[in-house]
Amino acid sequence: MSTVTCELCPHACVIPEGAAGDCRVRVNLGGRLRATTYGRPSAIHVDPMEKKPLYHFHPGSSVFSLATAGCNLHCLNCQNWQLSQRGGEEMEEVYRADPAELVAAAQREGCRSLAYTYSDPIVWYEYVEDTAALAHAQGLTNVFVTAAYINRAPLRRLCRVLDATNADLKAFDDGFYRRVNGATLKPVLDALVTFREEGVWTELTNLVIPTLNDDLAMIRRMARWIVAELGADTPLHLSRFHPEYRMRNLPPTPTETLRTARSAAREAGLNYVYIGNVMGDEGNSTYCPRDGTLLIGRSGFVITHNALTAQGRCPTCDEPIPGVW
Ligand SMILES: [Zn+2]
Repeated sequence: MSTVTCELCPHACVIPEGAAGDCRVRVNLGGRLRATTYGRPSAIHVDPMEKKPLYHFHPGSSVFSLATAGCNLHCLNCQNWQLSQRGGEEMEEVYRADPAELVAAAQREGCRSLAYTYSDPIVWYEYVEDTAALAHAQGLTNVFVTAAYINRAPLRRLCRVLDATNADLKAFDDGFYRRVNGATLKPVLDALVTFREEGVWTELTNLVIPTLNDDLAMIRRMARWIVAELGADTPLHLSRFHPEYRMRNLPPTPTETLRTARSAAREAGLNYVYIGNVMGDEGNSTYCPRDGTLLIGRSGFVITHNALTAQGRCPTCDEPIPGVW
């Protein structure tokens, strides 16, 4: 009976034969690690790109989005806990689809991208990699929505087939990661830098939770780190918390908190700071950082206005707006 150490994420689970890692889906079968969810998605939807959320990557397009069961984090406020905190065999509904079937289905649905999302696609790494490579061969792009708790070597390899990511930066505080997510901060920061180094278009989401990570000084520190390590043009989505799962004792984030946080992040030097999960807020939209022209207006996931030039520039001052347009 031989144990196997999983080298995919910083948990570095030592897995006895026949058992699974902390993510519930990476299993030691005869001394070899296998993901039991390969080819077995539990959720498939066609979503607007804005729902990932990606605001600077093919805006207004449809993205074929899928997930399997399992996750390497255990966030107390998980929105998808029925998917993430179970193994594949515990799901009522499991589809069967090999990578070629997924890519064909995406094309049938008129999607130019696939998104690996909802649960953390890190734990179905091989399924992502095979599907994403096929998608590239067909001229489609790949979106990876993740908490970025992954080791550098496997991430670097996966980046070869990824085009964009929305990655969580859950708090700029290691203690928060340990208490709320069952993870640590440093590997996440390293992964974000890796995405940038590998040329994957990167947007960040910070879910602002009342009393837990809404400290303005911390948000400023986080914004300064993003400016220094990832660049001032990295979009940051400050997202509204709703009570979920094991965190029902806290109220939804007040809109005013999000607006104040947005101001602080912009003052720290970030050019594109958004407010998420608040319908109709001016923080849903993209403005020219040089002259304030409204470039892309949004209400929720719907684009209400798009003034970007065909070259992705501000129509008023010709400032190039970073993104994949
Ligand atoms: Zn402008």
